[in-house]
Amino acid sequence: MTNEIIKALVLDKSIRLYFTDNTKVLQEIMKLSKIKDKACYLALAKAVSIMSLLSVTLKTTQRISTVITVTNKKHKIYADTDADGNVRGYVNQALLEEHQQQNSVQSLKEFIGPNASIRMMKGFEMNQFTGITDMPYQNIDDDFAYYFKQSEQTNTIIQTNIEFDNNHGLAKSYGIYAQVLPGTKEGSLEYIREQFEAENLAPMLLGMNDAEIEKELNHHFHNSKVMERKSIQFACHCSKEMFYGFLFSLSDEELQKATESNTSVDTKCHICGRQYVFSPSEIKILLQTR
Ligand SMILES: [Zn+2]
Repeated sequence: MTNEIIKALVLDKSIRLYFTDNTKVLQEIMKLSKIKDKACYLALAKAVSIMSLLSVTLKTTQRISTVITVTNKKHKIYADTDADGNVRGYVNQALLEEHQQQNSVQSLKEFIGPNASIRMMKGFEMNQFTGITDMPYQNIDDDFAYYFKQSEQTNTIIQTNIEFDNNHGLAKSYGIYAQVLPGTKEGSLEYIREQFEAENLAPMLLGMNDAEIEKELNHHFHNSKVMERKSIQFACHCSKEMFYGFLFSLSDEELQKATESNTSVDTKCHICGRQYVFSPSEIKILLQTR
């Protein structure tokens, strides 16, 4: 399943504007997450939607990963993306265990709480920049914009919109990201926010082709141009090697039992659901080497 990010320049090409209908990608990720609680679901969906928009800011082999630690410090949300538009997101086991079954009545704001933080790692494999900020807005969108203001000194608007269907599944998701370039006039970003809100622009633009989008953008923001479209898709980078750690966590006794009864050990990636099977002979090798 793929969706597209539309990249445009608006207001005399002084502002980068990215927007997307990423419903299909988010539906796939959120279905795998198995989260029932609405606030937790919304938090992960928003984080993933933001990452999908940020994918188009990356070059070559650059990656961005983010960790949201909510006020209950044991609970963490992870999302990451790369320059090829691969996106994924998941919550840690502690959070999953608490929110897989029940649907509490808390709001997104209550779920995040007053002492949450955003950590972002951006860069290449061997050369990463890490930034961390608190989350004063407790709504994720404005907290990520606050992160960019604090750590990169850039003014940004981030708006994600998640709509639910009657079965608490994801019906629709879209998002916009606008960032000022050097020389932008004071108040430009606020003007864009107002226009998008007053005219409900995002859903309208997302139903249009490039020529229509450009016409509509020019109607609101002079001298605008659609630059390109880039695809995004869900992709998990897990591999069998990563699951050797799980085998290592089992006792010699347990592993021996598996080899003696000639049974394999099954592991499963909780992000993408892929299964990795370790055969008795693989377990035997592991036992000999540790
Ligand atoms: Zn996986």
